[in-house]
Amino acid sequence: MRTAVLPVHPAEASRLTADLSAFAAFTEAGDGVTRLAYSALERRAHAFFEERMRELGCAVHTDAAGNTVAELAPTADTDVAGAIGTGSHLDSVVHGGRFDGIAGVVAAMEVARLAVGSSIARRRPWRFVAFAAEEGARFGQACNGSRMIAGLTSVEDTRHLRDVDGVSMYQAMCDVGLAPDELLSHVWDPAQWHAFVELHVEQGAVLQDAGVAIGVVDSISGSTRLHVVVDGTASHTGATPMHRRRDALVAAASCVIAGNSIANDSAHHGTRVTVGRLDVSPGAITTIPRTRRFRCGCARRRQ
Ligand SMILES: [Zn+2]
Repeated sequence: MRTAVLPVHPAEASRLTADLSAFAAFTEAGDGVTRLAYSALERRAHAFFEERMRELGCAVHTDAAGNTVAELAPTADTDVAGAIGTGSHLDSVVHGGRFDGIAGVVAAMEVARLAVGSSIARRRPWRFVAFAAEEGARFGQACNGSRMIAGLTSVEDTRHLRDVDGVSMYQAMCDVGLAPDELLSHVWDPAQWHAFVELHVEQGAVLQDAGVAIGVVDSISGSTRLHVVVDGTASHTGATPMHRRRDALVAAASCVIAGNSIANDSAHHGTRVTVGRLDVSPGAITTIPRTRRFRCGCARRRQ
């Protein structure tokens, strides 16, 4: 991991602080920041981003997925193909932090300001992107805006993904003025891009523990979600001898411990295993558990 400490001019720092505060104000009431995917609040944050970028002279458009893309044209007379891009997302989880996603968008806005105010020649287009619906908090699937421009989520998929109120992603997109039926025509052409970098706040404490300000990601994890059902036999806790029991909870507990051991094994460096939910049936203190369901998340480091 390479590290660096970046000096920030006081005027730039105050601009960054003002932008961070402006985005944090687009939130539902309650603790932290709640600005869910394809909500009116998310769209207001995108509109704020769009206005600021237009003021800088960027050409701005919002695609069918709700991603907002601002572009500064090259200033040098070159025929170099493909843009340089940076940005992040504007939606949040429920009661999230004010920096998640926003740090990368605000950094992109500051890069655009510095670019416009400097004489640095741009050999390529510079694009600043606010992605839509990157969190899985509302519809259970993450990275929706970026999946759609990569052609990985179809119009049909948006009809099946639903929030806790039963609202489909398709309907939510229509309700905020987007056009999911046009998704296919908005898939990005890789030839139009040279490189993309996303600045993102660290959501663990590795950098903090190491005492460094910033790091470069050298690998990314792929997530697997499992829904496991363990079958046993329900019977009376007082009357059933230990050797005759088929206790689903005891068996499932072994699975939890095994998963934890695998993740801690040095041969699986970087893997995380989490059991985040348990349902025990029938759930009575005097009955041996018959079934137990658990939901398990596994993030496997990809080199
Ligand atoms: Zn994020």
